[in-house]
Amino acid sequence: MEYFAGIDIGSTAVKVAVTDSDRQIIGSKVAKTGALVYKNAQTAFLALLDEVGLKRKDITYLTTTGYGRKLFEDADETISEITANAIGAKQVGKPFGTIRTIINIGGQDSKAISLDEDGNVCNFAMNDRCAAGTGRFLDMAARNLEIEVTDLGEFHYNAQGTPAAVNATCAVFAESEIIGLLGKGHGREEIVKGIHFSIAKRTIRLVKRVGVEELLYFDGGPALNKGLVASLEDELGKRLVIPEFPQVTTAYGAAIIGQESYLFEKEEDTEEVEMEPALKPKEKKSIKDILLGKSPLIPIASEEPASSCGTSCSSGCK
Ligand code: ADP
Repeated sequence: MEYFAGIDIGSTAVKVAVTDSDRQIIGSKVAKTGALVYKNAQTAFLALLDEVGLKRKDITYLTTTGYGRKLFEDADETISEITANAIGAKQVGKPFGTIRTIINIGGQDSKAISLDEDGNVCNFAMNDRCAAGTGRFLDMAARNLEIEVTDLGEFHYNAQGTPAAVNATCAVFAESEIIGLLGKGHGREEIVKGIHFSIAKRTIRLVKRVGVEELLYFDGGPALNKGLVASLEDELGKRLVIPEFPQVTTAYGAAIIGQESYLFEKEEDTEEVEMEPALKPKEKKSIKDILLGKSPLIPIASEEPASSCGTSCSSGCK
């Protein structure tokens, strides 16, 4: 049996997935990215190997992705998180059908990825300018409400009254809005529900830019928040596919790509030895070609600058 690893070094969390030759996840781990990005990623990787009874030498191919992917110099390959996310989502979404729209909310950005009916990435939109609509917004809200981010879903479902109106589109202003709502006597549960609806509305604006096609799939750490999932489904009027481990799908996708790259390279080496020089090499496709097709990635603009925010923040987002 051979083993493959994918490490997704995100802005907030490092995610590691180890797979076997059958693409089964044999272990995964989530750890804080922190300031010592490489060290923390390396520690998480080695700790996971230890947990699953493997050594570094047992990993045939290591692929990194995420914003800190290039820091991991001993990786065999680095890959963009859009590609890794798409391949991971396609794989875990298989039992549900063909995933057409991926919503990913991370610690500091949110993305919408559109796949065609053959599962090829055809477009994506990203908000990486503004904390509103990201995990950071949820972390800030939880801190102000003095609850754990992991309890936001429960607070959402315990809301009895009307969700509080959270109008601020900017995380900085939302913070003072939340404090103001608490001062006016609003319950934390209703505020949490209001926050989730506000994030859902903002996320759906992003998704509409790539097109809302079923099956819709949602991952990233905030997909663990059942209240946010419910708000997105309410606003969309559609059900979302949520994987069992939504935070590690991109790391899983990276491991799959690594396995295919390894097999591709191995096959090429074998053919070079065996092939008659006069024979024309057969056309081969890499995993990226097979799973994502030849269609170019056409990023539609990331969050457009707008004057409507009206804040002194330099990001110039909506
Ligand atoms: P990144 O890849 O940018 O580091 P992640 O996809 O790992 O981001 O998501 C991190 C965010 O996920 C955190 O900021 C937090 O808001 C949210 N999160 C993480 N774990 C949970 C959980 N158990 N319940 C709810 N939200 C969570």
